[in-house]
Amino acid sequence: MTSPAELRAAEWYRALLRNAVHGWLVLEPQQWRVVEYSERAAELLQLTPEEVQHTALPEFRRVYRLLQREPASAIRTELHLSLPNGGTVTLEVRARLFAHEQQHYLWVALLEETDAQLITERLVLTDKLALLGQLLAGIVHEIRNPLSAIQLNLQLLQQALPENSPERTAAELALTGARRIGELVDSTLSFARSSGQCICRQDVHELLEQAIQLLQTLFYRKNIQLHRDYAPELPPIYADARQLQQALVNLLTNAAEAIPEHGTVRLRTELDTAETPPMVVITIEDNGVGIAAEDLERIFEPFFTRKPNGTGLGLPIARRIIAQHRGRLLIQSTPGLGTRCIVRLPVAGREDAAGDSCADARG
Ligand code: ADP
Ligand code: MG
Repeated sequence: MTSPAELRAAEWYRALLRNAVHGWLVLEPQQWRVVEYSERAAELLQLTPEEVQHTALPEFRRVYRLLQREPASAIRTELHLSLPNGGTVTLEVRARLFAHEQQHYLWVALLEETDAQLITERLVLTDKLALLGQLLAGIVHEIRNPLSAIQLNLQLLQQALPENSPERTAAELALTGARRIGELVDSTLSFARSSGQCICRQDVHELLEQAIQLLQTLFYRKNIQLHRDYAPELPPIYADARQLQQALVNLLTNAAEAIPEHGTVRLRTELDTAETPPMVVITIEDNGVGIAAEDLERIFEPFFTRKPNGTGLGLPIARRIIAQHRGRLLIQSTPGLGTRCIVRLPVAGREDAAGDSCADARG
């Protein structure tokens, strides 16, 4: 006999399961009928709850067979399901077997495409990045010493060879290549390095001018006009000058590289007092080639580049540095018209002054 209390409990659990936020089904592996389901599953199958109960889903046979070989495992796969209304849906499913009163059932979770795709993509990316980080840190370290030796010896060789000889040109080319590897190694290291900052009050305009100074030849070579529209009185920010300069250099380099020849880079600074703390806003705008919409989603991925000699590290590094300064980096772009990078950094507060730490703690 089932007591009223037990009945109520059974109803409660059934209601819970039916109303689960996830789509799930239980199938019996003879007729492939749905024996239990959540309402979300019905929605995903584009069926009413009544229809679900009378639906057979023989497409799960393949999953079942796979699971029979390894009963303890769970399988994740994509399935094309034919629906009673003649339509089809493609869903990513996760399934496992379970036994109850000597009967096997298939327990199926329907993963919504967006969830499933987004989550796996992000997980795969995070996993990959973590792994890459470890690998790189190791490799980069191992590369540095032999690379210094290569550079030094190539330099000696180059100097020993007669000027204008093909051998000297070859040595020069090799040296250029070695220097490029060195740059790559350094930028990778600075990306991997996250701590040991040297933080002081900084004038944003000074930081910008120093960054521009570093890039003068690039701007000159490309005939790029610089327009400055600086706010007359901008409060200082609290920053690691070297790091923030690096972020600005990366953004300015991209702006210059986006301009085929003859173009304009506009620099604007302003204070946004709508936020607490107020934000210094730096806008770097170029009228270069712009970024395609599908690329815009990927530009912050390490190693994403559209340039034959690009590293794909400029923007991820810039973003990371700005985030470490409690700031934000936003990039807007219209293909063919140009790109705007907006850097927002909090104004130095009184409490920051106490923590000035200009002793260089870098490792
Ligand atoms: P890299 O410059 O080495 O390619 P970045 O991380 O600096 O790496 O930039 C990634 C990609 O983003 C570039 O290859 C380019 O396609 C795009 N990009 C970044 N900034 C701009 C810009 N100002 N204009 C056009 N494209 C840009
Ligand atoms: Mg770049």
